[in-house]
Amino acid sequence: MSSSSRVLVLNSGSSSVKYQLLDMRDSSRLAMGLVERIGEETSRLKHTPLASGGESREWTAPIADHDAALKAVSAELAKDGLGLDSPELTAIGHRVVHGGKRFTEPTVIDDAVLAEIERLIPVAPLHNPANLTGIRTAQALRPDLPQVAVFDTAFHTTMPESAARYAIDVETADAHRIRRYGFHGTSHAYVSRATAKLLGKAPEDVNVIVLHLGNGASASAVRGGRCVDTSMGLTPLEGLVMGTRSGDTDPAVILHLARVGGMSIAEIDTLLNKKSGLIGLCGDNDMREIRRRIDEGDERAQLAFDIYIHRLKKYIGAYYAVLGRVDAIAFTAGVGENAAPVREAAVAGLEQLGLAVDAELNAIRADGPRLISRAGARVAVAVVPTDEELEIATQTYALVGKNIKTVE
Ligand code: ADP
Repeated sequence: MSSSSRVLVLNSGSSSVKYQLLDMRDSSRLAMGLVERIGEETSRLKHTPLASGGESREWTAPIADHDAALKAVSAELAKDGLGLDSPELTAIGHRVVHGGKRFTEPTVIDDAVLAEIERLIPVAPLHNPANLTGIRTAQALRPDLPQVAVFDTAFHTTMPESAARYAIDVETADAHRIRRYGFHGTSHAYVSRATAKLLGKAPEDVNVIVLHLGNGASASAVRGGRCVDTSMGLTPLEGLVMGTRSGDTDPAVILHLARVGGMSIAEIDTLLNKKSGLIGLCGDNDMREIRRRIDEGDERAQLAFDIYIHRLKKYIGAYYAVLGRVDAIAFTAGVGENAAPVREAAVAGLEQLGLAVDAELNAIRADGPRLISRAGARVAVAVVPTDEELEIATQTYALVGKNIKTVE
């Protein structure tokens, strides 16, 4: 086959596009970057040409829409001979947030797939329209290239009905497609597999609790490589305490805020998604800042941290019970990979469950996957950096490679 082995990964938000160009022969990153504030006067592009080892380039200028953004990205890539018109580009992989029940795997995009992603907009009103815009823009630019959708929800479609259904009237739930879909699936898939590898075992032989703790946060219970439960639900609002989202609350809080607090649905939406979680509890959503304040004796920061940890511990216990046997707990994403005090506090006191963190190993800062459990502990505790872009590129390339073979 030719040397066409490059995959462009696009993560399109409503006013931003994140991208990475990878060479799948060795999974190396050739370039990465970000366009922000699309549609504003002060749009910003930051491009890092990794293959040439060059300096990052950054500029601010109006970028009207996603089409202009992708053309600007292509122009930056072209400066290093990597433009989107290059014959070496094999496929474009798109992160798509919501794939509903139907998309259980990465999927080559055609008109029917586009229609289905569009049909799911009511359950993902913020994300799917932006993802669709990114796909359509990329299709217009390279109509000849296969484009693949990799869904945040796909990894969780293996959840049994007992975990996926809310205990509400079945007809009402089904009429509105209300069920627990879960998110961050690409990360949970990647990290659970990488954890098995770290233990020197096949994914089929390992039960893992994955704790994806970024600004958004979710936990999953993975039995033998298949997700059996996850903490996010119909939307990414359910579950753990997050940077700005509440995670679990009594649903009656919403009724109370409307009836007694006089708040509108839009106001409650903003409160729970943007003004809750760590930022609502203490005014900061960055764990570094919260730890700094705790070190200075700040009580609100301490309480926010304690609530965050309490919820995390509850999920570890719950998923331990769901799995029955746990081989490893894996911490990932911004907080999970970097915040040693969070990892320490989350498993503190769980020795009876075979969980214990080694303080020295936990304090080491490193880039790769590593074990931080105490010698002799029954359950491995691991730090496993996530790589959603690599996972999207890998899945895209595997799918397109397969298609090429069947055509030949
Ligand atoms: P997302 O992709 O959800 O935006 P990330 O996975 O990049 O988020 O995580 C971002 C969060 O990680 C920050 O808000 C911050 O709380 C946390 N974080 C990043 N670096 C550190 C660090 N060195 N120590 C503690 N927390 C960190």
